[in-house]
Amino acid sequence: MLLKLSSRMLRTVDKRCLFKFGYNFGYKGMRSVQKFKKRLKNGVHFPPFLYISIINSCNLRCQGCWVKVDGPQAKIDLENMNRIIADAKQHGNSFFGILGGEPTLHPELLDIFQQNSDCYFQLFTHGQLITEEMAEQMRKCGNVTPLVSIEGSEIVSDERRGRLEVLNKTMEGLHNCVRAKLITGVATSVCQSNYELVSEDWLDRLIDLGVHYCWFHVYRPMGGDPSPDLALSAEQGLELRKFVVKMRSRKPIGIVDAYYDDKGQALCPAATGVSHHINPWGEIEPCPIVQFTRETIYDDESLFKVMTESQYLEDFRKSAAEATRGCVVLERPDLLRELVQRHGAADSTHRAPGSGMNELNALQPLPSQYNPGNEVPEEHWLYRFAKKNWFFGFGAYT
Ligand code: SF4
Repeated sequence: MLLKLSSRMLRTVDKRCLFKFGYNFGYKGMRSVQKFKKRLKNGVHFPPFLYISIINSCNLRCQGCWVKVDGPQAKIDLENMNRIIADAKQHGNSFFGILGGEPTLHPELLDIFQQNSDCYFQLFTHGQLITEEMAEQMRKCGNVTPLVSIEGSEIVSDERRGRLEVLNKTMEGLHNCVRAKLITGVATSVCQSNYELVSEDWLDRLIDLGVHYCWFHVYRPMGGDPSPDLALSAEQGLELRKFVVKMRSRKPIGIVDAYYDDKGQALCPAATGVSHHINPWGEIEPCPIVQFTRETIYDDESLFKVMTESQYLEDFRKSAAEATRGCVVLERPDLLRELVQRHGAADSTHRAPGSGMNELNALQPLPSQYNPGNEVPEEHWLYRFAKKNWFFGFGAYT
């Protein structure tokens, strides 16, 4: 698998993009986790991976979307993005996840990449606005990988995303990324209506399309239109895990996950503190779907100071890890409610007043990635090695 994937990357990816991936993401990414581990030893929690939703606006209306995509636009401008990136870099960070809304609607998106050429960015996008020109600009930057979300067939895509012609427009953007020789990924939020994508046929199709890696997220029934009936059962979650581990050894395509260590033990990236989220209003949240906040990036010049001094984040990590190795939002919304009340955390949904708590109260416990006794260890040595060293519980689970 590795040989085929490597030769595919060498043949189909721009050399500058390959270098930036290897150095800014690979080498510096490892180093940032080493620095994170060192800080943890001194009881200092600052995540090596920050996920930043730079704008709330989006032209789609997806089921399960937690972002207030309509109404007044909110965004983090270039000056403040550069400030928080510079602050995080001082502590060894080099990787940033860029989300929205739809981040390609942000007028300064390419400036963020250009002005932080020593960093690496993963762009979470529906791809519809990625023109040949924008893809070419991203190639010139070299430090960004578009992760294009595809939620199913034409019919399912329109249904899931609340618009027409969704898949065709997304595929156009995807083709532009591949043609520009970018390292290109495809993400799917796996749920009842698109479970057929958990298949070898779909992986073969992605490989034929020139896609280099994929990410099977597990659907979270959040936001104003949660559609909880789309959520996966525990059995489906386990089947998905087995499929991912098996295909990692067979298919010349990378398969990302953020929920398991090398032994197949479940984990929550927010509970381990390896990542936290900043929303388009600059509010700091444990993760994108925990829409309650106590701090913002505007509270102090130093993001590091604000995050390391947050008792709310610290309590979230501790409470979530004590409750489950899985997703505390899915499994124990009651605990999240208590935490929010304990800290008087503010609703950061920016929907109608009280929406956050109303949505939390409406959440019924659901299975998540934690399925004790059914751990599926990594089969492929590279994933085992990478997770063993740079992606595990980091001492959160005792
Ligand atoms: S709380 Fe749930 S959705 Fe958030 S990072 Fe943890 S597992 Fe993922």
